[in-house]
Amino acid sequence: MSILIYAESSEGKFKKTAFELASYAKKIAEQTNSSVSAVVFNCSDASELGKYGVSKVIKINQPNLQNFVAQAYAETISQVAKNEGITVVVLSTSADSLYLSPLVSVSLQAGYASNVVALPTSLEPFKVKRNSFSSKAFGIVELKSAIKIIGLSKNSFGLVENPTQVSETDYTPTLSAHALALQQVSVEKGSGKVTIADAEVVVSGGRGLKGPENWGMLEELAESLGAATACSKPVSDLGWRPHSEHVGQTGKPVASNLYIAVGISGAIQHLAGVNASKVKVVINTDPEAPFFKAADYGIVGDAFEIVPKLTQKIKEFKAQNH
Ligand SMILES: Cc1cc2nc3c(=O)[nH]c(=O)nc-3n(C[C@H](O)[C@H](O)[C@H](O)COP(=O)(O)OP(=O)(O)OC[C@H]3O[C@@H](n4cnc5c(N)ncnc54)[C@H](O)[C@@H]3O)c2cc1C
Repeated sequence: MSILIYAESSEGKFKKTAFELASYAKKIAEQTNSSVSAVVFNCSDASELGKYGVSKVIKINQPNLQNFVAQAYAETISQVAKNEGITVVVLSTSADSLYLSPLVSVSLQAGYASNVVALPTSLEPFKVKRNSFSSKAFGIVELKSAIKIIGLSKNSFGLVENPTQVSETDYTPTLSAHALALQQVSVEKGSGKVTIADAEVVVSGGRGLKGPENWGMLEELAESLGAATACSKPVSDLGWRPHSEHVGQTGKPVASNLYIAVGISGAIQHLAGVNASKVKVVINTDPEAPFFKAADYGIVGDAFEIVPKLTQKIKEFKAQNH
């Protein structure tokens, strides 16, 4: 067995998911006496991946692949997989990787299991556990193809350091006209704040905040924690916040380490999209709000009193500890 991960990066820096994929792949490699390779785009120094068990890095540094384009990246990853004799490809479940995975799967004629939440339950036959219906159900699937593709759910394995000697090599893919037909010339990030997909901490507001003019206190709390801001569906429907912040079943999924829900009732459609978060803190005036049942920590009280106090405490704590 030989394993390849696609280590995602942004502006030359690896995303945390890259290290999670490496940690996960290394664990499989240990069980099968094999090694982990990584394909990386636009990263000059990939040695950091060695810390999490990657022993070979294949670097793609081409001007026309500076920005993500699904078809071109998929062709590149497939070529690397073929050249390296890869039998297991591990991708993340980021928006980019969700575009990529089916394309790579078709190109390699590989079985693809998305939303995988754990190490393979069996290697021969190759079986993995995946979640369905917004983590309401889990299923074991068997991948019968020669090459297997795993889409690992964010934060389902974590980071495990495993220092390994890493070699780096450059590769120039041969891309089809189809792949080159579209090129992303530039990417503009919305306001330079933390995005929900990358955030370790998300501070989310609901209709309990009464109006858009009250979001300042949530933004301040988010800033003190280095968190992304999010909201419930009605809040974005009302135009209080941009649709890009809407989380839940019909919005963005959240799988952060900490999710702070302020003035959100915890309707099933909201919970479906945020339940994968590790620790959930709920602030709500109504002790009967359904969100408390899903919460790890709950504060029954008025957000307008609690949020500023919480921000103040976090700032004081940071000041004392820096
Ligand atoms: C098909 C479908 C898909 C949907 N998809 C989504 C989705 O993806 N995401 C989503 O969020 N919703 C979704 N919804 C809507 C969902 O059912 C709920 O209506 C919605 O989540 C409620 O939003 P909310 O909690 O902000 O508002 P509310 O239900 O109005 O809750 C407001 C909460 O704020 C509390 N509150 C009031 N004042 C304060 C205060 N001062 N301090 C603290 N707390 C206070 C109240 O006690 C209450 O619990 C969907 C619905 C349908 C039918």
